[in-house]
Amino acid sequence: MIALKIKFLTLLYAIFSANIPMKIKVLAPAKLNLSLRVISRREDGFHEISSLMQPLTLSDLITITIDDGAGITITCDDPDIPIDGRNLVHKAARAYLDVAGIERKIHIHIEKNIPVAAGLGGGSSDGASTLMGLNEALGGLLGRAKLFEIAADLGSDLPFFLMQSAAVASGRGELLRAVKLPEYSYILINPGFGVSAGWAYSNLTLTETPHNIKIKDYEESAERLCYIGGLLLERPSNVLDLLENDLALAVVAEHPEIAELLLALRKSGADGVLMSGSGPTVFGLYLTRARVDQALAVLKKGLAGRNFRIIAVHGI
Ligand code: ATP
Repeated sequence: MIALKIKFLTLLYAIFSANIPMKIKVLAPAKLNLSLRVISRREDGFHEISSLMQPLTLSDLITITIDDGAGITITCDDPDIPIDGRNLVHKAARAYLDVAGIERKIHIHIEKNIPVAAGLGGGSSDGASTLMGLNEALGGLLGRAKLFEIAADLGSDLPFFLMQSAAVASGRGELLRAVKLPEYSYILINPGFGVSAGWAYSNLTLTETPHNIKIKDYEESAERLCYIGGLLLERPSNVLDLLENDLALAVVAEHPEIAELLLALRKSGADGVLMSGSGPTVFGLYLTRARVDQALAVLKKGLAGRNFRIIAVHGI
């Protein structure tokens, strides 16, 4: 009887210790804003937006190691990124454990491929992937709605990355409707300096946006994006009518070289060009993949010797 009991306990130990420490790897994709309209400034300091957002094949790699114990540590191959409590990955892991009501020893390594403070949502994506990775590794302790709640508390762009799909975002970015987009190709050019999203929003003059939108137009704007987004599979070129970014005016006025890069993309044969999010990364959209290789060669030659990152990517 005692032998049986020991055997049972050994089996239990084997089951529960087999996965400790456990390691999980999660991709954290970048995003583009194919359309970003800023509608109004809210009393809580956030802005009402409507945006068509596209996840990309360009991504960071998040490796999460979970062990018994307590404490969260971060390492990152980019020395300029904070690895303490300011990192969104750290904030996401802390929030996850608090809401789940558990404690674990967690180490997260960030392999950074997405340019930083670039309008590509890198930090938010890393945070969202941390939430998803932890939840998967810990057997789905939290439901989808709870994950979205934590994400929205951490930042306006995080909920989008939990969708794992192109989407129209409204509210301050947390109200999301998935949209299926055609397989567009893009070339990104990052000029090598950062722009803070806070700076871009605080330098935006709402009355100077191209549309001079009134508050009542907010739902209309998101509805329009959803409607046109729904038609894109039938007529992919309709996307060209959507390419707009209300933050561009202020950011380009401060950094005129962005206009130069938009022009270079246009000359390379892009069907449409735009700055993404709060910039400074700009992108060219190519309706067919066949044109991208040639455009990439033209851009790399034309911009040789400048400290720019030129990256060909696809939507996912
Ligand atoms: P957003 O528009 O959400 O600000 P972004 O793409 O313009 O996104 P991020 O790359 O997310 O900008 O970086 C913004 C700032 O966030 C950086 O200056 C950086 O110090 C901080 N940050 C915190 N966590 C991360 C992270 N995991 N990766 C990159 N930056 C991070």
